[in-house]
Amino acid sequence: MPQVLNGNQIRDQILKECGPRIEALKAARCLPGLAVILAGNNPASEIYVRNKVKACQALGVYSEKLTPPDSVTTEELIETVESLNRRPEIDGILPQLPLPAGVDAKRVLLAVNPDKDVDGFHPVNLGHLVANNPGPRPCTPNGIIELLGRYEIPISGRRAVVVGRSDIVGKPMALLLLHKHATVTICHSRTANLAEVCREADILVVAMGRAALITAEYIKPGATVIDVGMNRLTDRNEVARIFRNSPEKLAAFDKNGSVLVGDVNPLDMAERASAYTPVPGGVGPLTIAMLMVNTIEAAERRLGACSA
Ligand code: NAP
Repeated sequence: MPQVLNGNQIRDQILKECGPRIEALKAARCLPGLAVILAGNNPASEIYVRNKVKACQALGVYSEKLTPPDSVTTEELIETVESLNRRPEIDGILPQLPLPAGVDAKRVLLAVNPDKDVDGFHPVNLGHLVANNPGPRPCTPNGIIELLGRYEIPISGRRAVVVGRSDIVGKPMALLLLHKHATVTICHSRTANLAEVCREADILVVAMGRAALITAEYIKPGATVIDVGMNRLTDRNEVARIFRNSPEKLAAFDKNGSVLVGDVNPLDMAERASAYTPVPGGVGPLTIAMLMVNTIEAAERRLGACSA
């Protein structure tokens, strides 16, 4: 039986460990504070932001949600970020991506003070990541490293293949695995013989946004498979095909009108892998936990700077 890597359990562990650190910060009058900028009306972003604010509330971290309209300009968002940069009680600033069409997201992210960049997306922090210097790491890939570590899955010396080269998942994931001494290959939409390359992986991380595209022939028997993808299936035939007519999944589809699936075929993954992350309940819960960790670390740096 393969090992199911339970992201909910690891999230709970990480959040529990945050408790005493927050108490210590509170006692030193340095309550961590996170500001989330939710620009425009993107339903998926609204859910992500709601969950981030809820996580702050559950931990007793101060949070603030700013909701500029869809018509907001790049200059206005930069001004909002700069005003948050100036507020000492705000440790983390998170412009929720994607920003509205027409906004230059790179310029907005560049405006965030690197010390308050709890997403780890600022070029200064990406430089720290490349150089393996301390600094905030992008939450999703860093959560995956935590998961592998806590399940004691060895990384050093192993072949890792990352499918996807986005700035927020694929590229930082590859660098984090490299720093843990894996031999890393990055794949993307122009990779030739993708299945053959993926089959070399002891650790296969997939972040493509393509529903269940990775099937048995991409997975080396016994590999660890990390499925980052989150895709909503709205076609019943697709649900039937991918889940091989599973009565439970079809019933869930009939009830909700959609079913969530990762980038890896879940049944193939369970048959071929020695360990894998399910969707949902695998990588997803880790992202917010690591955001909380980054926010606490930013507050600890502020406290250190105050008392230095
Ligand atoms: P993205 O920016 O769209 O990047 C997708 C990457 O996959 C690109 O590098 C693309 O290649 C590659 N790709 C697409 N189709 C491919 C194919 N047929 N063969 C090989 N490579 C292919 O996506 P992302 O932001 O990294 O997110 C990826 C997935 O992870 C999405 O489903 C997203 O919802 C999910 N996600 C989940 C979490 C979480 O917390 N669980 C967090 C972030 C993202 P090119 O560069 O050549 O175009």
